[in-house]
Amino acid sequence: MNRTGIVQDPIYMEHVMDPGHPESPERLKVIYRMLEEEKELPLVGVKPRPATREELETTHSPVYIDRIASTAGKQHFRLDMDTSTSAKSYEAALLAAGGFCELTKAVWDGQLDNGFALVRPPGHHAERDRAMGFCLFNNVAIGAYYAINAFSLERILIVDWDVHHGNGTQHEFYADPRVLYFSTHRYGFFYPGTGGATEVGTGKGEGFTVNVPLPSGSGDLEYVTIFETILKPIALQYRPQLVLVSAGFDIHYNDPLGGMEVTEKGFGELTRVLMEIAEATAQGKLVFTLEGGYDIEGEKQSVRTVLRELSQAFPPEKKDHTEKEKGKNQPLEQMILQLREIQGRYWKNL
Ligand SMILES: [Zn+2]
Repeated sequence: MNRTGIVQDPIYMEHVMDPGHPESPERLKVIYRMLEEEKELPLVGVKPRPATREELETTHSPVYIDRIASTAGKQHFRLDMDTSTSAKSYEAALLAAGGFCELTKAVWDGQLDNGFALVRPPGHHAERDRAMGFCLFNNVAIGAYYAINAFSLERILIVDWDVHHGNGTQHEFYADPRVLYFSTHRYGFFYPGTGGATEVGTGKGEGFTVNVPLPSGSGDLEYVTIFETILKPIALQYRPQLVLVSAGFDIHYNDPLGGMEVTEKGFGELTRVLMEIAEATAQGKLVFTLEGGYDIEGEKQSVRTVLRELSQAFPPEKKDHTEKEKGKNQPLEQMILQLREIQGRYWKNL
């Protein structure tokens, strides 16, 4: 059994955008309620702290940080077409980024084996000087820089399975080989529009960005196959010292925005592949942070599955249909061939 940490705090539900906005406090309310019911899950709470100014400035410009700070105490402030703040949003955003850093520290120090920051607002769309797509501060990027600086790390793998491409995270590390950014996402007339397979990084970072654009309707088979045949060989060659995950549950089959078909069981299988990678190269050090996910019930069940997998508190379920169906899916085979051609220049294992 693993010691799995979680970050949870009522402050994360005090960030409220427009009425009826899908990125609502309800998302966490339901997850937190589930955690109360799941008494048999051996989870360890990690108390969040606000991210420091210095930590924020690794990822965001001083002007942008000041702009977000200026929203504190204001009832409603619009930052972007679909992103706004309430009086406590700044505080929540500081604690989301800082909570992820604290959890990462506890895992790195060995107090915990792995963990999941159940926080809002999400982060992977946030750019250096711009709020985007429901995101204020880029939690996973701030956490990666924190680990690089605090523990002198040289290789961090960020895996982003949210249905949307993590443009902010990609841009942050596009020229930086210390972070390998791997993203699966829906692509083609879909927000935010970045994340083509030929976007591979630049300069010293060339080859350290891996984009897997997927068509709508992709499900367990596609995702697990991509994780096994593309992510795993690349990761085993890169040998990350730490694995961070932008976990978006908007690839769930019931999600109103995503259009993908991943089941709860699929989330468990993806988590297992990530655990295998982390165990092989990073002493199992694996830290998740919550990104999107807008079907409240589907998200809750999927987070439960991920936590069960991370904690290894229950015997794993058997794989079945994904194995049987392998090789029958032509668009998937073509995507794998294309990715091998593009990324094979950098990754001999592929
Ligand atoms: Zn998303």
